[in-house]
Amino acid sequence: MINNELRIGFVGFGEAGYHIAKGLRGRIRAGVLEQGTVNTLIKSGVGERLQQQGLVHHGIELSFSGRRHRINMHELTGGRAITVYGQTEVVKDLIKARLDANAALYFEVTDTSIHDFETHDPRILFRHNGQPHEIHCHFIAGCDGFHGICRPAIIGRLQVFERTYPFGWLGILAESTPPSEELIYCHHERGFALFSMRTPNITRLYIQCAPDDHIANWSDNRIWEELSTRLHAGGDLELKEGPILQKGITPMRSFVVEPMHWGKLFLAGDAAHIVPPTGAKGMNLAVADVRVLSRALATYYQSGQTELLDAYSATCLRRVWRAEYFSWWMTSLLHQFPDATPFHEKLQLAELEYVIHSRAAATALAESYSGLPFDI
Ligand SMILES: Cc1cc2nc3c(=O)[nH]c(=O)nc-3n(C[C@H](O)[C@H](O)[C@H](O)COP(=O)(O)OP(=O)(O)OC[C@H]3O[C@@H](n4cnc5c(N)ncnc54)[C@H](O)[C@@H]3O)c2cc1C
Repeated sequence: MINNELRIGFVGFGEAGYHIAKGLRGRIRAGVLEQGTVNTLIKSGVGERLQQQGLVHHGIELSFSGRRHRINMHELTGGRAITVYGQTEVVKDLIKARLDANAALYFEVTDTSIHDFETHDPRILFRHNGQPHEIHCHFIAGCDGFHGICRPAIIGRLQVFERTYPFGWLGILAESTPPSEELIYCHHERGFALFSMRTPNITRLYIQCAPDDHIANWSDNRIWEELSTRLHAGGDLELKEGPILQKGITPMRSFVVEPMHWGKLFLAGDAAHIVPPTGAKGMNLAVADVRVLSRALATYYQSGQTELLDAYSATCLRRVWRAEYFSWWMTSLLHQFPDATPFHEKLQLAELEYVIHSRAAATALAESYSGLPFDI
C-alpha cells in the first residue's frame, strides 16, 4: 500500500512520537514528569487524566548515613513541582488522542526501514498485518527509541558520546503502599535504592545491582530484604510488602549522538540520547525534543522558513547535555562504584552533606530535578 498524503512520517510510538510502532509492551519505565512536560501535555490536549490522576510532589528525600533529608523543591525553585504519572499512561493518552483524531496509526509493524531522507522524497517502508506499506513524506521523525532503526541508518554521519556504568537497576512494581508520599533516593553502603510510586497503592522500587545480574538470582524475599536494609526501614518508615507485579534489570548508560538530524530525518528522544534514570530525565527530554521539532515544522509550513529546522539539533542538544550532566552527577553521587576507594566514598558523603546544608547546592539539585524551563 502506498500512502502519499503524509507530511511527517513518525517511526516509533513512545513519548517522542506516534505513528508507526513496532509494538507496545507493558514496559514500566518513566514516572517522573517535569513541570514543562506536564504543561506541554496539557496544552496538547492530552492532559485530562494526567491532571486527575497524577501525583504532584513538591519535594524529594535524600537518605544517607542512616538519616533522611527533604529537598523542598517547591520553595527552592519558586513554586515548581514534579508529577508522578506512568509512562504507560502517557502513551495510552497519546494513542487515544491519535485514534480520536482518526489519524493514521499502525501497531505491531515489522520490517521497518527508512529511505531517501537526503532527497525531497523520503520514504518509510514496513509491513503491517503481513502487507507491505510505503509512506512518502516530507520529513521523517525518528522516535523509535534506543534500539530502533532510524539512528543506525545514519550512524556513519554521527559523532557518538557514550559512557556505560558498572551497575544496573533491578526495578519492581508492587501492589503495596509506598513507604513515603515523596520519592526517597538512598545512598547506602550496599548500593543505591530508590523508593518511588505509581499510585497511592502501587510502589515502584529500584535497587542497584551488578550490570550482568540475572533476575532469577532475585527471589521476592531477597528483594524485599535488600530494600528494607537500604531504606533503614524500621525507624519512622515502614516498608510494606505486597505482590510483585513486575520485575526487571536495566543497564545504565549515558549516550548522545550529534547532530540529531540528517537531511530530512530528525531523531528525537532515546533514538538520539540516553541518560541513566537516576535524574528521571529521559522521557522529559523526549517530550522537549518533539516540542522543538513541532514548532520548527509548524514555522516551516506557515512561512517556508527553515531556520528553526536547521537549528533543531543545536537547540535540543543544549538541554540534552544539561540533562546528561545532571543524570551523571546524581548517578555518581548516589551509587556504589565497584572500583571506589574509601577516599571516594568519603567524597560522596561530603558532597551529600553539602547538598543538604547549602541552600545554593540544594537549589541546584531542585532546579535540575524539577526541570529546566522549556523556553531555553
Ligand atoms: C527504569 C527506568 C526508569 C525511568 N524513569 C524515568 C522518569 O522517571 N522520567 C523520565 O523522564 N524518564 C525516565 N526513564 C526514561 C524513559 O523511559 C525514556 O527516556 C523514554 O521512554 C524515551 O521515549 P522515546 O519515545 O524516545 O522511546 P521509547 O519509549 O523507547 O519508544 C520507542 C518506540 O518505538 C518503537 N519502535 C522501535 N523500533 C521500531 C521500528 N523498527 N519500527 C517501528 N517502531 C519501532 C518501540 O516499539 C516504542 O514504542 C526511565 C527509564 C528506565 C529504564
